[in-house]
Amino acid sequence: MPEKINKNCVYLVGAGPGDVGLITVRGRDLLGRADVIIYDNLASRELLNYAQADAEKIYVGKKVGSHSLPQDQINQLLIDKARNAPIVVRLKGGDPYVFGRGGEEAVALSDAGIRFEVVPGVTAGVAVPAYAGIPVTHRDFASDLAFITGHEDASRTETSQIDWPSLGKWRGTLAFYMGVKNLPFITEKLIAHGMAPETPSAIIHQGTTPAQKTVTANLTQLPQAAKDAKIKPPALIIVGNVVSLRDKLKWFENRPLFGKKIVVTRARAQASDLVEQLHQLGADVLEFPTIRIEPPTEMEPLYQAVEKLAQYDWLIFTSVNGVDSFFNALGQKGRDARALATVKVAAIGPATTGRLAEHGIKADLVPPQYIAESIVESLKTVDNLTGKKILLARADIARTDLRDQLQNLGAAVNDISVYRTVPDNTPSDEIVEALRTDEIDYITFTSSSTVTNFADQIDIRLLSGTKTKIASIGPVTSATAHTLGLKVDIEAEEFTIDKLIEAICTNEETP
Ligand code: SAH
Repeated sequence: MPEKINKNCVYLVGAGPGDVGLITVRGRDLLGRADVIIYDNLASRELLNYAQADAEKIYVGKKVGSHSLPQDQINQLLIDKARNAPIVVRLKGGDPYVFGRGGEEAVALSDAGIRFEVVPGVTAGVAVPAYAGIPVTHRDFASDLAFITGHEDASRTETSQIDWPSLGKWRGTLAFYMGVKNLPFITEKLIAHGMAPETPSAIIHQGTTPAQKTVTANLTQLPQAAKDAKIKPPALIIVGNVVSLRDKLKWFENRPLFGKKIVVTRARAQASDLVEQLHQLGADVLEFPTIRIEPPTEMEPLYQAVEKLAQYDWLIFTSVNGVDSFFNALGQKGRDARALATVKVAAIGPATTGRLAEHGIKADLVPPQYIAESIVESLKTVDNLTGKKILLARADIARTDLRDQLQNLGAAVNDISVYRTVPDNTPSDEIVEALRTDEIDYITFTSSSTVTNFADQIDIRLLSGTKTKIASIGPVTSATAHTLGLKVDIEAEEFTIDKLIEAICTNEETP
């Protein structure tokens, strides 16, 4: 009788050094078929987008303030998962067998009698210098290349596994992984064993990603230069004459938008053309989540407000979506625009005002800006708000400052959610954080709705005093931005994505 074949298999897959495009075709294919994916820090999170939606994704890397899962527990996890799932992918940064402890994982699987396969990856030691403009070998500069761990305990002079005397005499290229902390020790050791102090050297942080940062210096000066530039792990150290080729060969960092953080705001169905092109030009693109509009989870407050509209003095709309959802609810209750006969209506911005007009309502008040202060100021000039009843028809995530300021003036405010915005992908926390820390270089707007979506979800006051520039695709979009209180810095000459990108690039060139 044929032996029962265990179909289950663990694939040790190299994720490449950071740039998502540097995973192998086979690696990507397996990610798409995996039942379980076990990954850690060095593998780009974006790679998980290739996974099936229902794949189990297990993070075993370092969490903020704590350690990664110990290696023996990772090994055990691989074994346990492999017993229950047909395809387990162990995704590891770079190549799984180059300083990634992939060898240990393979041994553990082998000992447990579990089938495994290895999918090699593009290792940092080759790819990172390449992206920094340093070929690891070159006929005139280096005929050999060594990969060395820079992680070895610097105090272990007696028991060192590293052959420092040979490395000191090395004529070719040395690539140290995990060496940031030990950098002074590494350079000292090399020089002590005969390497010329003026040997060209480099340290490259987060190579192949938009955050790539390269520092070059001679061997003696590299530790100080790295410290001055605040280089942190992960970083790769390259020592050898090949580093001198960087001036001529650096290409990645020379791309027009290299290192620029750009927020792309898109309405739901817009093409990802802009994202792709900005990425190609070297930008670090943060996609503002596209949103879907859904009815509020609780319809009752909205229905009640609609039934009792006559009780209110003011009805305030802050977005087109708010208008649409409100009139939907009105229709569901068998009513129409006449229900608004006795209530005064305020609408923020031309788009909201326009949509109201489509429903047959002419706004009584149109505050110039989409900020609480502007709305409150405008209201104050036309009405004494003390004791007035105000209905705010807004998104569920609307900010509370408008309500608070109206209440401070003595108004009775009913702030109801008339619709919900549901993110179609990732939440905008990352963007809020980047705005807070003033890391965003540009925000692009390609239509009025992208502007309103943005202002609906982000407190635009976060932008004040930041370096962030706003790039708009044309005058209509710019006008919407202005009414929402956003200053437009760059406007495309024509209403096209290409011209928008051109305008940003031109802005970068002008000092
Ligand atoms: N298996 C991985 C290496 C794991 S050890 C590979 O083959 O690339 C982790 C070390 O790799 C880091 O400390 C750093 O020295 C290096 N490294 C990995 N990714 C890097 C990157 N994008 N930029 C610079 N160094 C990187």
